[in-house]
Order: sequence, then structure tokens, then C-alpha cells
Amino acid sequence: MVLATGDFTNDPELKGRFMGPREARVPGVNETATGDGQKLALALGGRILNGDLALGPELRFIPPRHKTLTARLPPWRLLAGLMVWSMDHLPAALLRPFVMSFVTTTLAPTPALFDSGAILVNRHGQRFAEETDAPAFALPDQPEQAAWIVLDARVAGLYAAWPHFVSTAPGVAYAYVDDYRRNRPDIFTAAPTLAALGGCLAMPAGALERTVADYNAARPAMSPRPPVGEGPYVALGPVKAVFIHNEGGLAVDAEHRVLGADDRPIPGLYAAGATGQGGLLLKGHGHHLAWAFASGRRAGRLAAAAPTAG
Ligand SMILES: Cc1cc2nc3c(=O)[nH]c(=O)nc-3n(C[C@H](O)[C@H](O)[C@H](O)COP(=O)(O)OP(=O)(O)OC[C@H]3O[C@@H](n4cnc5c(N)ncnc54)[C@H](O)[C@@H]3O)c2cc1C
Repeated sequence: MVLATGDFTNDPELKGRFMGPREARVPGVNETATGDGQKLALALGGRILNGDLALGPELRFIPPRHKTLTARLPPWRLLAGLMVWSMDHLPAALLRPFVMSFVTTTLAPTPALFDSGAILVNRHGQRFAEETDAPAFALPDQPEQAAWIVLDARVAGLYAAWPHFVSTAPGVAYAYVDDYRRNRPDIFTAAPTLAALGGCLAMPAGALERTVADYNAARPAMSPRPPVGEGPYVALGPVKAVFIHNEGGLAVDAEHRVLGADDRPIPGLYAAGATGQGGLLLKGHGHHLAWAFASGRRAGRLAAAAPTAG
């Protein structure tokens, strides 16, 4: 048997055990990442390596209510080949709407927005964390576990062009404020005043103005973060806090056999992908996927070729 059920970023129990109680309260962006394979092997004497390491938590925009066209495409080899060909040969202007639907849907807003002066508020129009100090950990305690990024006119203008992008798939594309206005009207709100913005977001009357006034008044004079200035204002959100993926896979040997007591292989049990990451640290674009493809193919072949017991 080959265990290949992914990682455990969406399992509070394993996250609590290997990462900590704060981490356990932040969900995984991938709902199916419940660590079922790891749990099965743990019950048989297996062990998890690097269980404390993960990408996140980070802020991500909620997905659109309806799946985008690109998200609905089936994983056919022919279609994938056509997409690769299109990326290499079609003019950028033709590709941009498709690429933008991905970049504005799946990817994280840059934390640099907060360095530039954006603030993060909850459904009550209140700041609830220092925006530049891992605010994602505070999000599970907020109403609806949701928050909005508020930009004044200066910050919105800054993030309208390179080098100030809202989100990116590095080397593929960059999305700016106007890309969100066009592609994600469900998470884009603009208004001339803070009162109007708070009203559009169903926040209590006066709350957002009070938050901004208090924030601007309490900022230390030497703060590197500029105060919130004049409108018109833009709110991007809701954002949620999520873990993206984690490194906590089972200990395996070079043949992908799951190791049990005294590092002896558990008979007939193999693991691949995130479940059988075996202590590998996969830093860099595409390395996790490459490991999943390569280890899955190898583990499947080795398991099929192994002599069966009895
Ligand atoms: C938002 C996001 C962005 C990412 N970006 C990148 C990137 O740019 N580059 C990169 O290299 N990696 C990236 N990763 C990580 C990469 O996707 C994973 O490392 C990789 O998919 C792991 O492959 P896997 O086959 O081990 O697990 P998965 O792809 O998670 O597949 C596991 C499968 O097992 C199924 N499953 C789970 N439990 C059970 C059960 N009990 N019974 C039956 N089936 C079950 C799940 O439904 C799922 O289909 C990203 C991950 C996420 C979530």
C-alpha cells in the first residue's frame, strides 16, 4: 500500500501536536490535507519528520463564489500541453485575463502593503493586530474569521504599477489594485470616505473613522509606517488566515518504505508525496510538486514489484 494523502495543514490535532496551539487554530487552505496517511502510519509505529515546519500562516482572499473558468478545466494532458504552448506563443495581452483570474484568486496579498501604510480591520471596523507582526495568527479570533485590508488613496495609487504589486506568481504575472477591481469585484470595495467604506462593508457606523483616527494619533512619530491619509479608499477582502502546506511527512527509506520501530520498514507500507516527504526540505518553486510526481511514481513501482507476504 502506498500512502499518498498529502500533508496535515488542515488537521488541528497533528498541528497542535507538532506545531503548537496557535497553529492548530489556523485552517489549511487545502481542505483535504487532514493527515490521514500520517495518522495511519503513526498508529503502526511510523514517525513524522519536520512536523513543525510549514508555509504560513498567511492572509489569502476568500475564493470567488463560483469557480473560475481556469479552475474548472480538467487535468487532461492535451489541455495542459495546449496551456504550455499558449504561455510560450500567445501575445501577453491575450493571456492576461486568464492569468489574472489565477493571480487574483489563488495568491496571497503581499505583506508589503502594510509596510506602505495599509491597515487590517475586522468586521467591526477595528484593528486587531499589529499588521507587520504575523496578523494571521490573530484572525481565528475575529468575527467570521475575516478581515479587510484598507488602503488610502496614496497606497492604492502606489500599488497600481510595478514594483508595487498586490499579489504575484513570481515570473508569471503581477496583479495590481486595478486588476482586483476588474477581476474580483466580490472582494473589491471603493468609497470616497471612511464612513462610506465602512457602510459598504456593513461595519458599525463610525467604527472605521474611529479606528483610523485612533491609529493615526497613536502612531509613534518615528514609525516607518505612514499614517492612513486621504480618500478615496479601497478595501480588499475578506481575507482569511490559512496555512498553505507543511513539511511534516513520514520517515521513509530510499525505497519509500515507511520506517517503524528501530528504523525498520513496516512491511508492505510505502508513502509518497507530502505524506512520505521523509525529512526532505523542499524550498523553491515547484519542488513540492516535483517530489510528489517523482516519489509517487517510484513508490508505486517499488510497491508493485515487492514480493507479497504469504
Ligand atoms: C495553495 C497551494 C499552492 C501551492 N503552490 C505550490 C507551488 O507553487 N509549487 C510547489 O511545488 N508546490 C506547491 N504547493 C504544494 C503542493 O501542491 C503539494 O506539495 C503537492 O500537491 C503534494 O502532493 P501530494 O500528492 O502528496 O498531495 P495532494 O496533492 O494533497 O494529494 C493528496 C490527495 O489525497 C486525497 N486524500 C486525502 N485524504 C484521503 C483519504 N483519507 N482517502 C482518500 N483520499 C484522500 C486528497 O483529496 C488529495 O486528492 C501548493 C499547495 C497549495 C495548497
